[in-house]
Amino acid sequence: MAPMPVHLYGLTLEQMQEWLTADMQQPAYRAKQIYHWLYQRRVEDVTAMSDLPAFLRAELVAATRLATLREVTRQVSKLDGTTKFLFALEDGATIETVIMRHDYGISVCVSTQVGCKMGCKFCASTLGGLIRHLTAGEIVEQLLVAQRMLDAEGLRVSSVVLMGSGEPLENYDPSMAFIDIVTDAEGLGIGQRHITVSTVGLVPAIYRLADERRGITLAVSLHAADDETRSRMMPINKAYNIARLLEACHYYYEKTSRRISFEYALIAGHNDSRDQARALADLLKGLPCHVNLIPVNYVPERNLERTSANQIRAFAKELNDLGTPATVRREMGGDIAAACGQLRAEHAAIKAGS
Ligand code: SF4
Repeated sequence: MAPMPVHLYGLTLEQMQEWLTADMQQPAYRAKQIYHWLYQRRVEDVTAMSDLPAFLRAELVAATRLATLREVTRQVSKLDGTTKFLFALEDGATIETVIMRHDYGISVCVSTQVGCKMGCKFCASTLGGLIRHLTAGEIVEQLLVAQRMLDAEGLRVSSVVLMGSGEPLENYDPSMAFIDIVTDAEGLGIGQRHITVSTVGLVPAIYRLADERRGITLAVSLHAADDETRSRMMPINKAYNIARLLEACHYYYEKTSRRISFEYALIAGHNDSRDQARALADLLKGLPCHVNLIPVNYVPERNLERTSANQIRAFAKELNDLGTPATVRREMGGDIAAACGQLRAEHAAIKAGS
């Protein structure tokens, strides 16, 4: 069987140098030339790489692949320009990617897996379980498609969140390769500080990440201050409880000096009382961190109600009064299928019904 063509977006600069010298018998400096075409010029076709010799371009056409994502749908919010893509991968599986426009810049949320097995009760991405991990190239390509769309407006992606479907730390190596590729000065040159990796709380992977001392932000999905409530919302808590998770977070801060971001989705009657706010402040005492309060999106399949705006404000005030910095995340794309995985779930339902 012929080898699968190499997905060029999936190679770090070092890997590309190795591949060019070992497999293509080319000098290593060609890697920087190719990187320039991929990430600065953002071409979608190797034949456009005009400073490469014609024979090499022909060989690259045969040995590599570049554009593998097919746009299935695109929704654009009339309220704030949030753009949500549903992409089909080469095997037909679908993933979501979102562009969000903030007053401080543009962020892109990428998926790292097709579906997710973590089973968080408030999340649509996990409804069909994990289908497969994404490759580094498939994660990078999501960002490239977003950047190309923004190129038309003269805009740049300023930050990236690995917060779409999937648990990035369960798909560790491809997620880290993605970070290496997009932060490379020869690549998109996005600063490590502008990358956020979200995790459900895979404790061993948090230690591993801490030891690598990357300058990225760790966003931990906490969502409750006691084990009973958290285990009900997030099955992962049965494997790694809050105490073990917090220990890992302290370690991460010690190693990286990066303040931890805690995600807390407020769900009416589950985790939004004043006592729970106090317990949360208590839990996080002494750890440099920030709490992002998220008005949970309604997922029809889950039937979870969101906390009222007044109660969300009161919860935030309680935390801030107790010395735990907390802000309420601004809702983006409220008029489109904004919950993580919702667009993909809707698409699957339509396909199943057709
Ligand atoms: S919130 Fe994240 S980790 Fe939890 S099920 Fe959804 S995609 Fe998976």
